[in-house]
Amino acid sequence: MKRRDRTLITHAGNNPRANKGIVNPPVYHASTVLFDSVADMHARGRDKFNNVYYGRYGTPTTFALEEAVAALEEADKAVAIPSGLGAITGALFTFLSQGDHVLMVDSVYEPSRFLCDTQLKRFGIETTYYDPTIGAGIADLIQPNTKVVYLESPGSHTFEIQDVPAIAAAAHAKGCVVVMDNTWASPLYFKPFRHGVDIVIHAATKYMVGHSDVMMGMITMREEFYSRVKTQVHGMGFAVGGDDCYLALRGLRTLSARLAQHQESALTLAKWLQGRPEVERVLHPALTDHPQHKLWKRDFLGSSGLFGVVLKPATDERIHAMIDGMELFGLGFSWGGYESLMVPSSLKTARTATKWTAGPTIRIHAGLEDPQDLIEDLARGLDRLRGN
Ligand SMILES: *Cc1c(COP(=O)(O)O)cnc(C)c1O
Repeated sequence: MKRRDRTLITHAGNNPRANKGIVNPPVYHASTVLFDSVADMHARGRDKFNNVYYGRYGTPTTFALEEAVAALEEADKAVAIPSGLGAITGALFTFLSQGDHVLMVDSVYEPSRFLCDTQLKRFGIETTYYDPTIGAGIADLIQPNTKVVYLESPGSHTFEIQDVPAIAAAAHAKGCVVVMDNTWASPLYFKPFRHGVDIVIHAATKYMVGHSDVMMGMITMREEFYSRVKTQVHGMGFAVGGDDCYLALRGLRTLSARLAQHQESALTLAKWLQGRPEVERVLHPALTDHPQHKLWKRDFLGSSGLFGVVLKPATDERIHAMIDGMELFGLGFSWGGYESLMVPSSLKTARTATKWTAGPTIRIHAGLEDPQDLIEDLARGLDRLRGN
């Protein structure tokens, strides 16, 4: 029976009957796995990616989390990785070798850019950055040695929405693998495999974990790519701990309820900010004045709690006074937890294929506090911005 998302979130990966009726899976702590015999060892080793074989390959706790995420994303398989950036590294090293070329979206998460400009470069892999709004025009940038076209939508800090189906079609026509970072929407609000993506990355650290207490990444894919991905990430030594998997699965169970509230609160704050004289522009794809709002509406099923705000010109001193004095919005990296955050976006050197010329920009994560309290905190912050 085809289950709907909120049902999958609640049940996928759980098997209470196999566990004395206890609702959640046990937390396995494992390195060594003992075999009954040499024959048993060899038999399990023939399918070690799907068996309990050695701690690094995963335990039933890992498999419960991976099964739940795969079901929700409409993927065949998911592989848990110790961080979101680890998932990006694992995916890129799976599909790129010396002499290959990767097309990277210019609005990519900054550490992904750093990976391309340092590690991939050192191994003889060349990167070209492309305009996030390029659409089918990506075809002109594909070279004979291009193996991967990489997307992240919306863009990091600037929130451009990409035409995923158009880019995927052009990439597939030239035999490239389409990799996408789907962290912002989570598997609930964007379904990458419906739009032509081959390999999906999540910083599960964000909404899946949801409580700012675990680093975790995910790669999801169809069966055809599983063996290559698993061989690569296992070969790199990535292994996740049982407690972290348990916490990620526990976080995932409430994702639908949390994300609905993040969505609503972020829209409330975004619309309030749009009416403020200190604000030049709000960068949120669900707002009708967003340049790619139509694409967002066509492809996405919702919006999450993270968005950008371009302020009218202001001195660094005033912007710092606003941010430093916030009472409910914490200043820190990552996002997707239950609490609100605000960070300045440093975009001056972040783009190379396109130009970002807007004024000072901040990024807001709307947490699960009462939105009215958040608005009052923002109002006091904007007073400080004006120097009052
Ligand atoms: C945070 C983030 C990552 C990296 O995740 P970590 O778990 O912090 O390594 C990757 N992509 C996006 C879009 C992110 O926001």
